[in-house]
Amino acid sequence: MTWWTGIRRTAACMAALLAATPLLAQDIQPEETYGRQDRTQSVSANDFMIAAAHPAAVKAGYDVLKDGGTAVDAAIAAQMVLNLVEPQSSGIGGGAFLLYWDAKSRSLQAFDGRETAPFKASPGYFLGPDGQPKGFWEAVIGGRSVGVPGTVRMLETAHRIHGKQAWKGLFEPAITLAKDGFEISPRMASSIAGSAGEKRQLDRFPEARAYFFEADGSPKKAGTLLKNPEFADTLQLIAERGADVFYKGEIARDIVKAVSIPAENPGILTLLDLERYQAKIRTPVCLPYRGYEVCGMGPPTSGGLSVGQILGVLSHFNLPGQGPNSDSVHQFVEAAKLAYADRALYIADADYVSVPSSGLLDPAYLTTRAQRVNRNKAMEKAIAGNPPWKEASLRSPDTDPERPGTSHLVIRDSYGNALSMTTTIETGFGSRIMVRGFLLNNELTDFSRAPEADGRPIANRVEGGKRPRSSMAPTIVMKDGEPYLLVGSPGGSRIINYVAKTIVAILDWGMHPQQAVSLGHFVNRNGATDLEEGTEAVQFKGILEAMGHEVKIRNLNSGLHAILIHEGGLSGGADPRREGTVMGD
Ligand code: GLU
Repeated sequence: MTWWTGIRRTAACMAALLAATPLLAQDIQPEETYGRQDRTQSVSANDFMIAAAHPAAVKAGYDVLKDGGTAVDAAIAAQMVLNLVEPQSSGIGGGAFLLYWDAKSRSLQAFDGRETAPFKASPGYFLGPDGQPKGFWEAVIGGRSVGVPGTVRMLETAHRIHGKQAWKGLFEPAITLAKDGFEISPRMASSIAGSAGEKRQLDRFPEARAYFFEADGSPKKAGTLLKNPEFADTLQLIAERGADVFYKGEIARDIVKAVSIPAENPGILTLLDLERYQAKIRTPVCLPYRGYEVCGMGPPTSGGLSVGQILGVLSHFNLPGQGPNSDSVHQFVEAAKLAYADRALYIADADYVSVPSSGLLDPAYLTTRAQRVNRNKAMEKAIAGNPPWKEASLRSPDTDPERPGTSHLVIRDSYGNALSMTTTIETGFGSRIMVRGFLLNNELTDFSRAPEADGRPIANRVEGGKRPRSSMAPTIVMKDGEPYLLVGSPGGSRIINYVAKTIVAILDWGMHPQQAVSLGHFVNRNGATDLEEGTEAVQFKGILEAMGHEVKIRNLNSGLHAILIHEGGLSGGADPRREGTVMGD
């Protein structure tokens, strides 16, 4: 059964693809979003391009690119605006991973701006007085979930190496917008409304309550003009004095104070934790896939390794020949189950625990994993394999799910540099603690709250200074030694599925970026198979159930952004499930 016939990307079929009928129903109303935009066409450009989750951020990045800035310059301008207009998802109070292709040195670098746990934290950090792990929301709200934010140091590090425009000027668009005000978007309004109240408690602390709610306690509505002069002052300080003011100066002092205040759930971050923070430059993890090289971010995120494992298993199946049919969807979700089983057992911050990174992507190992996929029958729950590795795996798997609240941007500049960055404050609105006009993350709940299971330690347990395991998967696919596809998404631990699926849709099924990004989702995290509500993907429910899959039809809130770099120029797509857009020249 084929819902879209796999047309190869040839000059002749490109026009047909661009005019293709929308694949998906337009009228779903995902929770905490304002619905789906009607997007069917990729945006084209010749020289440079940016795609991100809000038009004002895209415009800020576009202006920098047009003015001769590099991809990293544009990312800084766009990130600061995102902090303002999409505050639920990312900002300077959070962390990020950034992949950068430097055209001049022809090299790919991976920047790690992940948050760190306080040095005083120990594995029992999230245990309650009864010795049991705290509930998710109980752990999120307040100071305890806040890790040392990494985004500012990471952007400064990347800018020192790859920036062309002065650091200071890159903050201007966000400073102006913060002072003059901007209209709350429908998506931001629905996120505010969905996060109020007893469970999610965005109105718990006075600063966030005053900023996001009216005086009568009702959530601010779409179209309300919002100003944030405090944030403008914060950005002005960082613009003038660099990241040090954030990590060693008055901003650091205010962060430490704010985190320690909530009486029920105080944090233990110290000035020394902030002062010692380092953004790290790591080696990307790459895997050959059907003649391309798929490069991603390694630990502390599982993104690169797990996307790589899914593709490595899928390379044993004829996805290009099959097209996006029920066989392909079955094989995809089975490959995903296997990858998530390994992820839970093996992947964590490799600076703290040993991770079999090369073993997990070893071709012979992936062949044995692919042999576990039965073409006609779903496996119940995958168990982790035994990748080649020097150490015995005396560990237990981690079962904590992550919750969505993140953003992804992709940029290609006129010098040929390319950037793929996923940026987050973890769950929507992070810890709820607002300081100097920005929200602090709750990234530490990405650790396993339970330190051990069955008497064995969990690799992703809390340790002092450690970075929590992430699912973020900023990706750059290389073709003939040049960047070919830039892609990534938010979506908690589903990110890995969203990104792998988009890569398959473009590389194997010849879809253009907008089609691939809009394509109805099929997801598995080693449990039920989720099919995206309101899309053509739901037609596979019956056949997948007959194969033994437990199928759930659900709203799946990704935020994919993709740029394809081909002989004809650049072509970009923005996720219709969010408010993003693409601009280029
Ligand atoms: N905190 C999650 C992670 O690092 C991301 C959450 C999201 O995508 O919304 O994997």
